[in-house]
Amino acid sequence: MDYGNLKINDLLSTAVAILQSCLPPDRVLPAQDTIEHARRQLVQKLSIHGIGLAETIKHLQDDLGPAFNASSRSPNYYGFVTGGCTPAASIADNYVTAYDQNVAVHLPNETIATDVEDRALSLLCELLDFQPESWPHRIFTTGATASNVVGLACGREYVIAEASAHRTDQEISVGEHGLVEAMRRAGLDKIQILTTVPHSSLSKAASILGLGRASIRDVGREDAPHKFDLKLLKSLLEQPSSGSIVAISASEVNTGLFATSGLEEVQELRKLCDIYGAWIHVDGAFGILGRVLDPSRYTSITEACTGLELADSITGDGHKLLNVPYDCGFFLSRHRNIAERVFQNPNAAYLATSNGPDSIMSPLNIGLENSRRFRALPVYASLLAYGKLGYRDMLERQIELSRGIARLIIESNDYELLPEFEGSLEERLSRIYIIVIFRAKDESLNSRLVADIKASRNIYVSGTVWDDKPAGRFAVSNWMTDIKRDLPIIEKVLRSVAEEHRAR
Ligand SMILES: *Cc1c(COP(=O)(O)O)cnc(C)c1O
Repeated sequence: MDYGNLKINDLLSTAVAILQSCLPPDRVLPAQDTIEHARRQLVQKLSIHGIGLAETIKHLQDDLGPAFNASSRSPNYYGFVTGGCTPAASIADNYVTAYDQNVAVHLPNETIATDVEDRALSLLCELLDFQPESWPHRIFTTGATASNVVGLACGREYVIAEASAHRTDQEISVGEHGLVEAMRRAGLDKIQILTTVPHSSLSKAASILGLGRASIRDVGREDAPHKFDLKLLKSLLEQPSSGSIVAISASEVNTGLFATSGLEEVQELRKLCDIYGAWIHVDGAFGILGRVLDPSRYTSITEACTGLELADSITGDGHKLLNVPYDCGFFLSRHRNIAERVFQNPNAAYLATSNGPDSIMSPLNIGLENSRRFRALPVYASLLAYGKLGYRDMLERQIELSRGIARLIIESNDYELLPEFEGSLEERLSRIYIIVIFRAKDESLNSRLVADIKASRNIYVSGTVWDDKPAGRFAVSNWMTDIKRDLPIIEKVLRSVAEEHRAR
């Protein structure tokens, strides 16, 4: 059997050749017939002998490649919050595949991989202005959803430990006793997750963890749904026999708004949570990167990110604004003891950690997975290559374009910026981070707006709903963003979509 002989350099050049053969850079969506062609070429039945490496590469390159969309390769792709992939991260990711390291157990005399992961997480803390020593439980995950699962699992363990500390000297643990028994022994009737404008993955995490989607309680203010109604929050925290996790949405995916807007607000939350033994989790999937910005220039964003260091745990995404490839998220927590209580992978002698003199923990004992991809390497390489100022520059360009789009929409006769907000143009623009939500003023255009924009194939936006009506949403998240090149393309598409609708 000839398996094909690929050396590392061949692998890299093959990957580059495949990239170059993908969609032309001015098209974000493949034409419908390209997709249909690719679908017809999909192999329907397992080949007994295999078609060989050369034929397979040809199939990927010629048949399938052109029918993927250009989500991370094109700066004109504004769907979801996809991020891109920096050149340093891209090269490193190919090394990851070539070496195929499993980063599960810390084996300091056998591989440097766990040291690299630990360094990458420490550098990441520095990037985000968190003290690495304050976050001893830190790990790369498959994404923000996984990080939210880890965060709520830690919070669940903590609030039960807090509640039971008043009743018994025994260690009461979900990890050990299971949720039902642990809650009974801790005297808890319910665990609630108190939050504002939560991402859907928080409900998913609550479901997975046996807390239930119904445990998510939106405590947003009526006049500003993304902000905490502190009176309501306090009344729920002080309910007897309840444990609480407070989840801060640090930039909500629909509007880009942040739940807190300064140190004092987070201090107030911290004070309340300390009184009632509650855990604070921050979902900062893409918002947390706001901490790289210059406070003198992006005050409203940096203030919204101030104080988040007072949380117990933090979710961040790698494959969004960090611009590393899928699948990568990260998780930070202050509570190392909680990590072991939840994630310890016990009684597997063959996986015993050789505890070195360093403090690096085996990832399999502090996170969801056992066998894991070496997803730390692209983060390490990208942080090394571009540094704090490189990441600041990428994000500034993304914010600049987002605000450029927002200005275009405010000044246009055909579209309006959401959410509606009274204020000067400057005030309205200063609230914009990397998300721009908008709709067409003419409802007959609005109902088909996102489809028409996509049909241009020049830019891609996501559809969403605002006030029970359809709306469009730009999420700018690619390191290649360049307002001079990208804004005229957006302007042209928005203008022609409106003109063509009028002409119909
Ligand atoms: C994208 C996102 C998530 C989910 O992240 P994945 O990486 O898709 O798992 C969670 N929370 C927020 C705020 C997000 O924007």
